[in-house]
Amino acid sequence: MRKIVIAIDGFSACGKSSTAKEVASQLGYSYIDSGAMYRAVTLYFHQNYVNIDNSKEIVKAIEEIKISFQFNERRASSETYLNGLNVEEEIRKMYISNKVSEVSAIPEVRRNMVSQQRKLGKKKGVVMDGRDIGSNVFPDAELKIFMKADLAVRAERRQKELLEKDQLIPIPEIEENLLARDKMDSERKENPLIVPEDAYILDSSEITLPEQVEYVLQLATEKMIKYDG
Ligand code: C5P
Repeated sequence: MRKIVIAIDGFSACGKSSTAKEVASQLGYSYIDSGAMYRAVTLYFHQNYVNIDNSKEIVKAIEEIKISFQFNERRASSETYLNGLNVEEEIRKMYISNKVSEVSAIPEVRRNMVSQQRKLGKKKGVVMDGRDIGSNVFPDAELKIFMKADLAVRAERRQKELLEKDQLIPIPEIEENLLARDKMDSERKENPLIVPEDAYILDSSEITLPEQVEYVLQLATEKMIKYDG
């Protein structure tokens, strides 16, 4: 069957990455976490004291950033590398979560990341999750999913994920971060978070991860058959 592009967008912590990862693995597709790319840029800016109000500094910094992904066999998961260093753990920390939406709203940053994301999906056979994948990065994606979930469910899931990495963050702090990011991501000028017209809405509040995966796989199969025929 011919390969397609699957775009999974939605609010923060709705289960996009877990769903996208599993769908990609079952289809033998590659999985690209576009949020990890913005997180890696945020980490670089933080480590190098880049002034985000100075566009010259931003452009220069972006030229020095090389982001890549490598599959970790032991964890059975793709991990993010910044200039050759594994930053997977660092970019998930709260200080990055608290800054990333501000950095991702910078037009120079977006332009560069979007161009890299398009290159990564050029050959199709890719599942990419983010905020503007179906609306902007791949407006012609064969399958677009938009995920949402209740705030309490999202915060609880995120707290569990962070705990697995030995970070205990109170629920109100997580909720505050999720709401702030949703707002900034939806209200920014460049490529805001919107529901693409042709997206399927997936509410993950009351369903399990296997059910989410099943839903996307079923739609993907339908699209592949249609695309083939
Ligand atoms: O997906 P994740 O929550 O890790 O994304 C972190 C942040 O990166 C988002 O809150 C958003 O500000 C930014 N992002 C974006 N566009 C994407 C993916 C993520 O602006 N396609």
